[in-house]
Amino acid sequence: MQLYLTPALIALALAGCTTTSSKSTNLAYAQLANADGRPVGTATITRSRGETLLNLVVSGTAGTIHGMHLHAVGKCEAPFTSAGAHLNPTGHQHGKDNPQGAHLGDLPNVTIGQAGTGTASASLGRDSTAIDAALFDADGTAIVLHAAADDYRTDPSGNSGARIACGVLTRS
Ligand code: ZN
Repeated sequence: MQLYLTPALIALALAGCTTTSSKSTNLAYAQLANADGRPVGTATITRSRGETLLNLVVSGTAGTIHGMHLHAVGKCEAPFTSAGAHLNPTGHQHGKDNPQGAHLGDLPNVTIGQAGTGTASASLGRDSTAIDAALFDADGTAIVLHAAADDYRTDPSGNSGARIACGVLTRS
């Protein structure tokens, strides 16, 4: 289940950055840290031509696959239960493969490559007003990396296991 990480899609994303950079707006940024407080990655959220996009770069153990999600509270205190549940303003169940899904905060798995780095990209959609309201509400938003892969189906968190890193979204 690495639909989001094929070379073609990455190339497309990179091409999009190149050709639309003048119309891309930075919305938010997060520095992810593990439970020891060590920085392990960064996430950026941008808007280009009405579409809100998230990009993540994270370091880890080569060959591992990790679920990641936007969580409803912008608070990262290990073991990161402080970040609350998945960002879910529409009251759906978890997972894009769940008939009752998905959460706004559901994101593709990230695979750590042989160099110890993984990248992932996702679209949060085109409803900018609703997205901004959810991301930048009073208690903020966090991005959380999980120990195991998300199965994209099992409510509420895709069987993705413990929360191993977390970053609070800061509005750009
Ligand atoms: Zn979810």
